[in-house]
Amino acid sequence: MSYLFPPTEVFGLPVAGETATYPVRRIFCVGRNYVAHAAEMGGEVDREAPWYFTKSVAHAVMSGAELPYPSGTANYHHEMELAFALGADVFEATEPEAAEAIYAYGCALDMTRRDRQQDGKDNRRPWSLGKDVEGSAVFAEMTRAKDFGALAAQRIALGVNGDRRQDGRLSDMVWSPVEIVMHLSKFYHLGPGDVVMTGTPSGVGPVVAGDEIIGTIDGLAPVKLALMVTKS
Ligand code: MN
Repeated sequence: MSYLFPPTEVFGLPVAGETATYPVRRIFCVGRNYVAHAAEMGGEVDREAPWYFTKSVAHAVMSGAELPYPSGTANYHHEMELAFALGADVFEATEPEAAEAIYAYGCALDMTRRDRQQDGKDNRRPWSLGKDVEGSAVFAEMTRAKDFGALAAQRIALGVNGDRRQDGRLSDMVWSPVEIVMHLSKFYHLGPGDVVMTGTPSGVGPVVAGDEIIGTIDGLAPVKLALMVTKS
């Protein structure tokens, strides 16, 4: 079977210690997973259940990318996040099944058109223009879960042009990766290729053309994004 045009290339995430890459098929993102960030967005954390939005895998880029400031926004924001990648099929996962299914962790950026996201909130419309932005899912090399060890109070931070903007601890997450897998797998047949961004700590804010963004989590490879000086 031939195609009418060349199909999109698979987005393969490098994993430390592996020669093969991790082919991504879906990107799920958790909303408001740190209390202090929920407060700065004018909301409260919903203790009932985590909630989600998605990003197209076509909008994923590797750390080190240099991209134009996106169209359609005057308020493009950084959100520094822990991402994890699944390595096994899970549906309605138990806690041990969820824990076993988490294959790798990595640093990620959930770049956001904050003004377009706010339009969606104000008008009770979807967040696609705010969140599913071309080049807005930025991933660093992943680290296998067994090499990273237990999630604890690892520092999660982000700087813009060397100025620290976000600074939190993974232990501040409301929903742990295992709890997210248990919950999300009630709605999706999750499996290898599925990546989850787990939400951002407080300190989100705007970036401008020419900025250099670096996000770090203790024990993981940093994630970097540069915005070109010239607009798209
Ligand atoms: Mn986010």
